[in-house]
Amino acid sequence: MSLLLAAIPVTELKGVGAALEQKLHNLGIQNLQDLLFHLPLRYQDRTRIVPMGALRPGDECVVEGEVKLADISKGRRRSLLCRIQDGTGSLTLRFFHFTAAQKNNLKPGTRIRCFGEARTGANGLEIVHPEYKRVDNDDLVPVEESLTPIYPTTEGLHQGRLRALTDQALNYLKEGGLQELVPDQLRQGWQFPSLNDAVAYLHRPPVDVDQHLLLDGMHPAQRRLAFEELLAHHLSLLKLRQKARQKGAPELPGTGQLKQTFLDQLPFPLTGAQQRVGNEIANDLAQAYPMLRLVQGDVGSGKTVVAALAALQTVESGLQAAIMAPTEILAEQHFINFSNWLESLDIKVAWLAGKLKGKQRQTQLEAIRTGEARVVVGTHALFQEEVVFSDLGLVVIDEQHRFGVHQRLSLREKGRNGELAPHQLIMTATPIPRTLTMSAYADLDCSIIDELPPGRTPVNTVVIADNRRDEVIQRVQKACAEKRQVYWVCTLIEESEALQCQAAEVTAEDLKVALPELRIGLVHGRMKPAEKAEIMQQFKSAELDLLVATTVIEVGVDVPNASVMIIENPERLGLAQLHQLRGRVGRGSVESFCVLMYQVPLSNQGRERLTVMRETTDGFKIAEKDLQLRGPGEVLGTRQTGTMQFKMADLQRDSDLLTRVKMVAGQMQEWPDFADSLVERWLGRGEDYGNV
Ligand code: ADP
Ligand code: MG
Repeated sequence: MSLLLAAIPVTELKGVGAALEQKLHNLGIQNLQDLLFHLPLRYQDRTRIVPMGALRPGDECVVEGEVKLADISKGRRRSLLCRIQDGTGSLTLRFFHFTAAQKNNLKPGTRIRCFGEARTGANGLEIVHPEYKRVDNDDLVPVEESLTPIYPTTEGLHQGRLRALTDQALNYLKEGGLQELVPDQLRQGWQFPSLNDAVAYLHRPPVDVDQHLLLDGMHPAQRRLAFEELLAHHLSLLKLRQKARQKGAPELPGTGQLKQTFLDQLPFPLTGAQQRVGNEIANDLAQAYPMLRLVQGDVGSGKTVVAALAALQTVESGLQAAIMAPTEILAEQHFINFSNWLESLDIKVAWLAGKLKGKQRQTQLEAIRTGEARVVVGTHALFQEEVVFSDLGLVVIDEQHRFGVHQRLSLREKGRNGELAPHQLIMTATPIPRTLTMSAYADLDCSIIDELPPGRTPVNTVVIADNRRDEVIQRVQKACAEKRQVYWVCTLIEESEALQCQAAEVTAEDLKVALPELRIGLVHGRMKPAEKAEIMQQFKSAELDLLVATTVIEVGVDVPNASVMIIENPERLGLAQLHQLRGRVGRGSVESFCVLMYQVPLSNQGRERLTVMRETTDGFKIAEKDLQLRGPGEVLGTRQTGTMQFKMADLQRDSDLLTRVKMVAGQMQEWPDFADSLVERWLGRGEDYGNV
């Protein structure tokens, strides 16, 4: 029956001509189902007349009273002031634009009814430019029967128009209406209203609705739709996952030999968490469909070893493994690690990055193509067209959780080997709150390395105002005298990399003057990769005492002797990013410090955030807090949220629905047609993830 509504174009409604049709299309509305799912943003209450004596600033409401006075005020701006009274109190109406006729109509003694927002004015409450009409002869002019919906709209399409159209569409609801796409069996025990009731209710909430619930998005009718929307998103990701699974992957059971030799020669035993996650991956690799696994592990939890185990199982099974890192510095670090580990096992490791040119590059490409190299480490350069793998079985992507669904897919495609897709492992040091994992990453399996190797000393975090900069500089001097190395991180408005680099340059110069005895280096995002790598290398080999840097050092770099980090303006960064930065220290056995040097004055939210940093080093706690303070868009990054815009749902508010969403989504696999229709209803036709 709903097919009915989805099949009726808006042009069937009275008054919809070509121009209006176009405007509706701009809003994504083509048919009656679309129109009914175009829900109000908020509501106005025009259902009752509020006594003036009860008005409070900020109230948006209807008042009615008698004009006492209407006069032109010649204050800073000429305006028409009209004083009205209703027996309980009085109110000023203010018009900056008005006509002489308007003034004449507002003669003392006239009764008017107005609607608008009351604000505090010079003489008590006033409403600026209210809507108003005369109510003559004590006629009982009716007020509205339901709350007045305010729809999201587009230029030239007025609320009144949208209301008239939805009025017509709501009539269709009475004759059958929208199809319930969550099967009856799965709705047993729900406390939600039916879909049709929920939609009708939200377009025209009755007078007695609990407006607070509605405002908070917690009304059962809203929750019903939020649930359905979350379900639709979840289903679309599951669909994606199924599609990926339908492709075959090479089975890589391994022999266990190389892995064992590798473990025997490691100077430490694996942590329990490394073992557990390692086993999960080992299992996945043995399947005939591609692994799609996200490994989350806090900074320093030892993800690289886990990646090495996966690579070795792949090599044992006769295929190649590729490890991709987001920066050259990181890729090089991995290359060094993997070479050290694997050379003694007689495994050739190739290396590819943008900076590698000419003959060297050709040699590496050749080794990758012939299959002589069994493990390949590199940057995005690995996925350029000229790179041909001989028999790729596994792709590991390090430090890349800020990858949207589309990026994940395109990487999968690039690594394809004939009919078979490689297994894929994504690793991130940015813990992702569980609610986000359940919604944004439903197409992936998740593993968590929730244990740090023993013997780490937690970082001491100090929060200091930047008017105590001199003290901080002294502290740096003292630390360096004790042969420790120090990071000095300059942050500025994140969007402007140029300004950030400039600030770092200035800071480096200032510090050279203040601390002439120290060897000071500088890295920032505008330097050539080779320059950056060289400075990082000098810092690593302790040829530099102090490294001034922008946030480019955020991910993965490992310099165990660096035990002090100063972060300027930490209040400008997200918690997750601060956590990443701080993870660069505390890697050795000496006690480490992180100094958060904020700019005064600090906002309340800024203070709260820095306090979180001081009080905990647990990445998951920090991520939860970040989500709470900044919302999912910031936490996941813009690329991810581009595909995560909800109309009704709010991941935080509705997080309690997610467990059920997941369960119902699983059960709905038995109703594939309903599942597809749901995805289409909420995500539209063009945005189906499965079609990218
Ligand atoms: P991350 O998870 O941040 O990528 P790394 O893989 O770089 O962490 O590991 C951080 C450090 O911890 C490395 O020096 C690594 O050799 C060491 N490490 C890894 N696993 C263990 C372990 N089980 N016991 C002791 N040290 C370990
Ligand atoms: Mg790492």
